[in-house]
Amino acid sequence: MEVPEIGWTTEVQLPASRTAVLVVDMQNDFVHERGALRVPTAAGTVGPIARLLSRARGAGVPVVYTQDWHSADDPEFRIWPPHCVAGTWGAEVVDALAPRPEETRIRKTTYDPFFGTDLGPALEHLGVEKLVIVGTVANICVLHAAASAALRGIRPVVPRDGVSALTEFDLHLAFHQVTFLYRGVPLAAGDGARFVPRARA
Ligand code: ZN
Repeated sequence: MEVPEIGWTTEVQLPASRTAVLVVDMQNDFVHERGALRVPTAAGTVGPIARLLSRARGAGVPVVYTQDWHSADDPEFRIWPPHCVAGTWGAEVVDALAPRPEETRIRKTTYDPFFGTDLGPALEHLGVEKLVIVGTVANICVLHAAASAALRGIRPVVPRDGVSALTEFDLHLAFHQVTFLYRGVPLAAGDGARFVPRARA
């Protein structure tokens, strides 16, 4: 089997007034060492994501969070061990990436953060055309976020150092789908995202 290469981009210009950053499921259960469904490489993405968020906020780019948010008997627990049960410590975003009070949090029950939530209208209200997506798991909720954004006409931009998966194969697969199928931007590192302020008249 031939594994297609990813055509990594090192820098992308993003108009600050038409861009948002989506932080997917960086919750204790996925990221913390005591998490119920830990992705071992997720902790290593916290630093790069924090840097990206700091630059985005400084440029006036909105930051939106998703939280996996299940009932105790969610059907998803037939596939995965119980995780991110509503209201528990495991469902909270890790302290190092805590949302600011004014930032939007989308609580979702499926892999797709647009399904049955206010994310679509929220991004539409913000006039978002490009969405920088970071978080976990790359081939699951990050991929569904990128897919669903792309199908709404929003271009996904996914930095390699801002996402994590259980295997290298899963990560590669996610980037292949993001680029080949959804025409997203595979960014080699989050530092390559350049938020361009609105031009002054
Ligand atoms: Zn889940």
